[in-house]
Amino acid sequence: MSSYKGFQFKTYDFSKKIDTTVDLIDLIDELVGGDIKSRPEQVQWIFDPLLQAIEELKFCQANPDKVVYRHFTFAPEMIYAMDCVSFVPEALTFILPTEYLCALVDEGRDLGMPDHWCGFLGGVLAPLMYKRLPQPKAILHCNQPCDNSVAQGTVLAETFPDTEMFILDNPYTDDEEAVQFCADQLREGFSYMERMTGNKLDLDRFREVMKNSARAYELIYEINELKKVSPCPIPTSAILRVTSVAFYALTGTERLVKWLEKHLADAKERVAKGIGGFREEKLRVVWTMSWPVFDYSVYDWMEEEHGAIAVAYHSAEPFYQPPPDLDYSTASYDELLRLLALRNNNHSMGRQGRGSLNTFVNDNIKWCQEFKADGAIFAGHWQCQANWSSAQITKEKLADQGIPMLMMMVDQLDPRVVSSDQMASRLDPFLEMLTDRKMAR
Ligand code: SF4
Repeated sequence: MSSYKGFQFKTYDFSKKIDTTVDLIDLIDELVGGDIKSRPEQVQWIFDPLLQAIEELKFCQANPDKVVYRHFTFAPEMIYAMDCVSFVPEALTFILPTEYLCALVDEGRDLGMPDHWCGFLGGVLAPLMYKRLPQPKAILHCNQPCDNSVAQGTVLAETFPDTEMFILDNPYTDDEEAVQFCADQLREGFSYMERMTGNKLDLDRFREVMKNSARAYELIYEINELKKVSPCPIPTSAILRVTSVAFYALTGTERLVKWLEKHLADAKERVAKGIGGFREEKLRVVWTMSWPVFDYSVYDWMEEEHGAIAVAYHSAEPFYQPPPDLDYSTASYDELLRLLALRNNNHSMGRQGRGSLNTFVNDNIKWCQEFKADGAIFAGHWQCQANWSSAQITKEKLADQGIPMLMMMVDQLDPRVVSSDQMASRLDPFLEMLTDRKMAR
């Protein structure tokens, strides 16, 4: 393992016995944080959201009174507004080095974790149940985007029987009634947070957090608009994990706004110079479902071999419009709750994982059209059953628009399920076919 037609992908050493009882936060800080800090200054800024997230994990260790467990599609603004810090167990599996993740998945399976549970959740099962992670003051959970993550709520409830949970019932539809349904629950959520943490909500702090959040969404919207330019000015694979961390974990912070301003300025400069990422753009592709996290050289291979630049990734980036202008210095509690409801209902992955599957299908069609995709890749994480159920219809609808879609199975985190070279062997003929089609046109 693991090369394809002479291209060497990332390799792993699964022969060593991994000690899964180490402090995972210290491990991430040392290995991932240490690696970022050792990079040259001119590229280090790209990884700042990852560093910010790691700093928050360290803060959780040092400040147990402020730790609030948060489901990964529950918008973090409520926690920042209450001057607490969120702890998302699945963030650990997303960031952890692959060998550790795989050892933790195996430990979870030994505990009886069923096969239909993905590594994101299963990788933290043992650390949760053996109480190796920070203890929560409060727990915010929700009912999107899949049955597996709903079931994770049971694990949390059984692991922390003395900590009452708040569970947001994300609505099925997107009309105003649904938004208000969510806003009313969030009002209860703030009362819950006050009760559990002993902190009082400061309306000005809530306004500030929501203003930062709105600015972050405005900036990512502008950045995504620039990604429509050809060549795509953003070396997306390099910035993918970082953007994902930013919008799953850090919206509402000023530091994220500053990073996005720099990101936008960099993208604008590239557009002005007419340059793209690292390699020449020959094809534009959209990943319409999962994207492999364990080995980013898959994207390098696609770019090197086929000039295939990934311009959008489902479940990684938010694509909806920023909210309308609002004077945040005077915004009422009700107005802020409504905006926070919109955040929750439109959260990356949550939006396409609740309600009608048409949202998943239509969002993918919209992205492929707007980003002028030559082709789409449905790399379905094998346990995401809801999304698999809409794969074929997405493929057919995209075909109607003249956009071919490849369907293949992956495990986003675990190369033992489908390795990089196996992925390349599926992608290769598909990308060749896209090239031939483009040449013929
Ligand atoms: S949507 Fe898929 S990857 Fe995400 S938690 Fe559910 S099963 Fe796991």
